[in-house]
Formats: sequence, C-alpha cells, structure tokens
Amino acid sequence: MSIEVKNITKHFGTFTALNNVSLRIPDGELVALLGPSGSGKTTLLRIIAGLEEFDPIDGADILFKGVSVIGNRVAERRVGFVFQHYALFRHQRVFDNIAFGLRVRRGANRLPKDEIKRRVMELISLIQLEGMENRYPDQLSGGQRQRVALARALAIEPKFLLLDEPFGALDARVRQNLRRWLRRLHDEIKLTSVFVTHDQEEALELADRVIVMNHGLIEQDGTPFEVFHQPKNAFVMDFLGSVNLFHKRLGVGGIVFDPQHMVGQNPFFVRPHEIDILPDNPDNEGISATVQRIQLAGAIAKIELVDVNEREIFVEMSHEKYQQHRFTIGDAVFAVPQKTVHFDALTEPIA
Ligand code: ATP
Repeated sequence: MSIEVKNITKHFGTFTALNNVSLRIPDGELVALLGPSGSGKTTLLRIIAGLEEFDPIDGADILFKGVSVIGNRVAERRVGFVFQHYALFRHQRVFDNIAFGLRVRRGANRLPKDEIKRRVMELISLIQLEGMENRYPDQLSGGQRQRVALARALAIEPKFLLLDEPFGALDARVRQNLRRWLRRLHDEIKLTSVFVTHDQEEALELADRVIVMNHGLIEQDGTPFEVFHQPKNAFVMDFLGSVNLFHKRLGVGGIVFDPQHMVGQNPFFVRPHEIDILPDNPDNEGISATVQRIQLAGAIAKIELVDVNEREIFVEMSHEKYQQHRFTIGDAVFAVPQKTVHFDALTEPIA
C-alpha cells in the first residue's frame, strides 16, 4: 500500500519541526528517513502513524493508497511499529508478547485460540526464534528482543511497518546482522516500510530509497546511488560520507584548503577516495601537506594529511596503491584532487 504525505508543516510552539514536507512512498518499498538529530524524522513518522497532529494548513494531507486518513484514529490506520527500545512486556513470554495484538481484538475481529497460535508460531519461525517462545525478554539477546518486537508489530498484519531507529540500541556487529536480516525479510514479505535512522551507512545499505532531511525539510529523495553519487547540495554531500572541503584562492593558481569554512566562496568537495597523494606537484594542482597518520587495518588504507594551515585532509586508497607510494609519517607530499564536486554556494558552514 502506498503512502503519500502532502504539504505537511508542524510547529512545536514557534519552532518549525516540519516545513511543508511532501513525499510519496510506493507500495512495497523500504524507505529510509535519514538526517541529523532534530531534523524532523521522528515527527514525520509519528504524523504518518496518526500519533501526532500536524498544522491545519490548506492542502495538507496524509493518504494511504490514495485515500485521506486524516480523520482516522491510530488503530484504524493499522500501522506496525518498532521503536529503538523494544518495549516488550517484561513479564510475558515471547509467545505472549507476539500474541498481544491479536488477543486484544474484540467482536468480529477476534480470532480463535488455535488460529492465534498458528500465526504466532509462523512469526516465530519467520524471526528464526523457534524453541524460544517460552523465554522471557530478559533471557534473550538485544538482537533477539528486537526481532520479537518486529514479530509483534507484524502480528496484526499491518498495512505498513514504521521503524524508529530500530537498531539504535544494539552494538555494531548485531546491528549489521539484523540489518541484513531485515532486508531479506522485506524482500520476502514486501511490506511497505519506513525506517528512521541517522546512520548513513544503515540507510544506504538497507533502503530502496533514501529521504535526506535537515531542519524540517527534505534535502533530497533518491536511490542510495543517487544520494551518494549525485548529491543535490552541499548538505547531502557532507552528510553521506566524509568529504574534504576546499576552495580556490582567488587570483592565485594553487588550491588551498578552506581556511574558515567560507560561506559563499564557491567551494568544492572531494571524497577521500578521490584524492591522490604524490611526492611532487607537476600541474600545480596539489595541496602541500604532511602525512600525519596511516591506518592500514581494514579493506582500504586510510591516510590523514595535514596542510600548512593545520587542516586535516582525509584520503582513502587501496592497499595496492599504498604499497606503490610507500610514504611514511612526516613525509612532505601533495594531495591532488581527482574528482571535485561543486555547488553554487554554501548556505551555511559545514561543521
Ligand atoms: P533524532 O534523530 O534526535 O531522534 P529527529 O530527526 O527524529 O531527531 P524529531 O524527534 O522529529 O527529530 O524532532 C524534531 C525537532 O522537534 C527537534 O528539535 C525536537 O526538539 C522538536 N520536538 C519534537 N517533539 C517535540 C515536542 N513534543 N515539543 C516540542 N518540541 C518537539
């Protein structure tokens, strides 16, 4: 089922949490809302679910499959929720936690006991926790608890799944496994899902589409490839992976590292893997620098340089390339940008 958000604005007092936001999520997509803390991600998710009101402005609407749901209560919207802190019932077993949403049904919607059992066991198998249905939440690992929270959300057969930082409380390894697992699960059940994250790697790896938010606005809405390789503006470029910011010194041929994050100086950006390190400066396009740190653990070599103004320049290269260069800490080198990205002007300094 598709979701459409039209012209949504939300104020908390005088503070604008969402500023005329519109977006469309097609049926079956897994979409990430990505942005820094306070950018409005959770507010948008809560408004979609019906947990939060939005400003009553002409043209503002939330539609599920083309039909406005403004008048519908939360329960009528049939949305499955998973939050960062898996709010499982501590005194209930895994089975009862998952069955909860089905047992509270009344009237014609009430299911026979056998049917509830069948559905719960099916979900337990889906989250790969067979044999653990009689455990209590504190007898499970963090990742297992989060999978139970997901099964509980799925039990009511929601029209969508909304996940707010679902892996936020977990350690890096568990997080990564659960991410892949959720992607596979999504491919299997194809439930339209929106998840909030401030982790760009998580968004790029997991989502079909990434919506980048900042200050209550959508900066870009695109595939992971588009937002990473074709960022629309300086904010998206900076937020999706590390970048080096430079500007060309006016009237002087050489490139200098941006001394003060100058606003409106027609800056350009270079990703760390698009900078070469050379011993000399043949085309006068390099930045004079010194090797400060070399990190060789991991799939790529990471090198930190420092320029004459004590600004750090981050460079990444393959181990093969590093072996050819063979520079060491303290060497005087030149950082030569291979591919630069320009934006008209920065509207604000990038921290
Ligand atoms: P995070 O990643 O930190 O969770 P977020 O992008 O999800 O951030 P929101 O929770 O949507 O951000 O909050 C957006 C802004 O609105 C924040 O500045 C927050 O302080 C403010 N805000 C959220 N809820 C309320 C509220 N009930 N009353 C006042 N301000 C609020």
